[in-house]
Amino acid sequence: MATLNATHDPARKSWVESANAADCDFPIQNLPLGVFRKGGGKAQGGIAIGDQILDLAAALKAGLFSGAAAEAAQAAAGETLNSLMALGNEHASALRARVSDLLRADSADKRKVETLLVPMSAVQMVLPAKIGSFTDYLCSVDHTKRMSQTGDMPPAFKSLPIAYHSRASSVRISGEPVRRPNGQFRTHDGKVQFGPEPSQDYELEIGCFIGPGNALGAPISMREAPKHIFGFCLLNDWSARGIQRFESTPLGPFLSKSLSTTISPWIVTAEAMAPFRAPAYPRDPADEPFPHLSSPENKAEGNLDLALEAFIVSPKMKTSGAKPAAVTRTSGLNTYWTFAQMLVHHASNGCNMAPGDLLGSGTMSGPSEESQACLAEKNKRGTEKFDIGGGEMRTWIEDGDEVIFRARAARAGSVSIGFGECRGRLEPAVPWPS
Ligand code: MN
Repeated sequence: MATLNATHDPARKSWVESANAADCDFPIQNLPLGVFRKGGGKAQGGIAIGDQILDLAAALKAGLFSGAAAEAAQAAAGETLNSLMALGNEHASALRARVSDLLRADSADKRKVETLLVPMSAVQMVLPAKIGSFTDYLCSVDHTKRMSQTGDMPPAFKSLPIAYHSRASSVRISGEPVRRPNGQFRTHDGKVQFGPEPSQDYELEIGCFIGPGNALGAPISMREAPKHIFGFCLLNDWSARGIQRFESTPLGPFLSKSLSTTISPWIVTAEAMAPFRAPAYPRDPADEPFPHLSSPENKAEGNLDLALEAFIVSPKMKTSGAKPAAVTRTSGLNTYWTFAQMLVHHASNGCNMAPGDLLGSGTMSGPSEESQACLAEKNKRGTEKFDIGGGEMRTWIEDGDEVIFRARAARAGSVSIGFGECRGRLEPAVPWPS
């Protein structure tokens, strides 16, 4: 697990003024990595600071890096961050230490670095990695209970982190619209129909990018797991509930999930999250995991203390300039399994994990009403409406609605950091081609 160092020092400020605002997601203690495009230029890696991005290719050219930090900057400067993820967290840490020094208020290099900043408002963010595989988990006790017809937990839930292989090709970046899918589902009278999904949902999740990974046949131990966890983002696992209910027996979800998955563009590194680690979910002694899924470190600080929020903006709200309606407020602590356990379980059969692979935490619902992290929980599996203000009610996401996720980590004695936004607007289904 990453330890605290000078880059986490709460007294450290940046000469980039916007980074010092109390509500800024990207203070000097965060320094997340992403990939952006300027004008019609090619995609390139950068580090967020306040409302600016440090252009890593330009900083390299200016000779600002040496040693491991230079190797890391080189690996992160291109069209994806996969090469940096493959190098491992020690390289990412060397880059973070140097960039923190370059951007700190008393940096001797301020004049040189100033010219290498690009305003976020002037760029388009793109996917931060080439995602080879995407796996989505089911790790919240409360989500699992509310989604079950009977209230029973799946037999394996407390023994292993349940997951399905999802689709990497349709993972997209925040801001890109998402189409309501066409598919097969049962209508109220039990007939099977093909057409636009009637029950489109979101799932509020944390995404986790994998670092170096393992060779086929060589599992990862709990002790080694933190070395393979590169960083985190927000993840909307768009879920077509009608299609899901009909198709999922017996092999699990397929087209109900692969329509699209939206992620936030900035990867908050495991090191940046070091001040916000928390104990793993409390378990009954009878439910202790197998030794291969357990470690003292994981028990003590395997979880992320991260506040998560979801909002809906309807077309009417957009026109009137009304505030987004808060529909979910929850926490990263609501997961029964940690990312280390998800990763170790994933590789326990010898399956190889690769740099840039993406894990979804599963819908991060907690016990309270407001922490229900998808609409199927909020609307009691489609039977109730809820108020989004301005006289508008919702059961499911309607065409034109935008779903926005935000996340923030805060602890006494640390500077609070944020994840930026994960945003997607639902567009109407395509008319089926004749
Ligand atoms: Mn999910």
